[in-house]
Amino acid sequence: MDRIRPWRLWLVVVAVCALIRCAGQLAGLPYLAYELAYTTVTCSTPIMIVIGILLNRPARPAGWIVLALGQFCYAVADVLYSFDIWSTGTMTEPTPSDLLYLSSTVLAGAAVLIFIRRRTPGWDLATGIDALVVAISAGLLTWEFFVEPVARDSDLTFSAKLTEVAYPILDLMLLILAVRLLLRSGGRTPSLNLLFGYLLLMFGADTAYAIVGLLGGENATEPFTGGVWVISLGLIAACALHPSMRDFDSRSQISAPDATPARLTMLTCAVLMVPGLQLAEHLAGLPLNIPLTSIACAIMFLLVLARMAGLVAAQRRAADTDGLTGVHNRRYFEEALVTECRRAARAGYGLGLLMIDIDHFKRINDTYGHPGGDRVLRELAQRLAAGARAGALLARYGGEEFIALIPHVTAGELPQIAERTRMAIADLPIAVTDQALITVTASVGAAASLSPATDPAELLRAADQALYAAKSAGRNRAVVAPDLHTPTPTRT
Ligand code: GH3
Ligand code: MG
Ligand code: MG
Repeated sequence: MDRIRPWRLWLVVVAVCALIRCAGQLAGLPYLAYELAYTTVTCSTPIMIVIGILLNRPARPAGWIVLALGQFCYAVADVLYSFDIWSTGTMTEPTPSDLLYLSSTVLAGAAVLIFIRRRTPGWDLATGIDALVVAISAGLLTWEFFVEPVARDSDLTFSAKLTEVAYPILDLMLLILAVRLLLRSGGRTPSLNLLFGYLLLMFGADTAYAIVGLLGGENATEPFTGGVWVISLGLIAACALHPSMRDFDSRSQISAPDATPARLTMLTCAVLMVPGLQLAEHLAGLPLNIPLTSIACAIMFLLVLARMAGLVAAQRRAADTDGLTGVHNRRYFEEALVTECRRAARAGYGLGLLMIDIDHFKRINDTYGHPGGDRVLRELAQRLAAGARAGALLARYGGEEFIALIPHVTAGELPQIAERTRMAIADLPIAVTDQALITVTASVGAAASLSPATDPAELLRAADQALYAAKSAGRNRAVVAPDLHTPTPTRT
């Protein structure tokens, strides 16, 4: 009994109804018989979502409530539509069921948007650009195949045109939101997979229905699209019934979206689709919409270039940053030191350099393990960064050694800065594990070049010697090297 989960039971019911809906129509059963199977699922879906909310009690139910509301609109629309077909079989657009169908898509989109905002709060430009590329590509297809033919159809009234165009446009909106959710999906829970399943089947069936409608062959394919719609609704209710819906909108752990093979494949298809469509239309002798495709291509080129620039900047940032502590790394520091020395020599200001080496760090590693040592390094980097004055450059110089370059120092300031740095480390214990607080000390070697010409190597050597002196004198102290005055000014 324990193994019978509501969502599994529900999916069995859905599978049976989908089969009746599809096979019933193919076998020539009366309309009401197979339509009943369909309506059972559409009407049960909002109820199942509400049951899912009550059973699983998500911390923030807003998205689920909006989803249930959307499915409620869908159910009412379906009942009205079925009744209309059964009773009169004639409809003039927009019917009340049209308005309710369209509202249900808007509400489904709003629910997906709420989930996206919860999972990845903040402004994710890279994923936004990728979703926009897909949107332009799919938007052009929608325009060419669904909007334009309807707009050109002189048999339709204006409101009928508007209604018919609203379906593909709102579906497109839902597709874009699904792509956005997929691209920054973070943890893949069964619930999320069920939602993707719903979006995919719903979009696929809607598109197939619209294409077949344009070709005038609804009757042949209706049993299949009907069956797929039943399954898609089943999946959205199963998504809410599944216990993993509780973690559904927990924050995505992916910090920086990358150009993964799947993402690149999707973007390649989207980018190639527009010129591909143009070529296919040209080969088929169809009229070309050159201004529209040119504008779409130009926007996509610009978006891809923007994405490239973002990726290059992210790579550069990663190459300059120490992975463990998040401060700059040694390579970046050494380049910056040369540049800063040149600038200081030109402008004639003093440069201070602090070398900070943790005392007996090996013991911390030996006692608390490498993770404990890493925690100390991260905490220290945070403290040093928080205490650094504006314009200072902090880096991890070696295993347990940090370095700080301070422009515009005066002769009297450096000993105070060095001592303050030492105290910032020694005065406040560090949580090396969740249970243990320890006092960590560090030795600081400081050197300043107050002459207008500064040699980076000499400044480093002087700070290193001061650090060595601090260690020899017993550790947990700051030693300042004598002022550097290079005898022969060199312009490096
Ligand atoms: P001293 O007071 O003379 O500086 O002694 P110390 O033990 O701090 O210095 P030593 O150079 O002997 O040891 C540094 C240790 O830092 C050795 C190395 O295993 C450790 N270490 C280097 N990089 C990392 C790291 O990324 N994480 C951790 N946890 N330990 C590291
Ligand atoms: Mg060391
Ligand atoms: Mg050390």
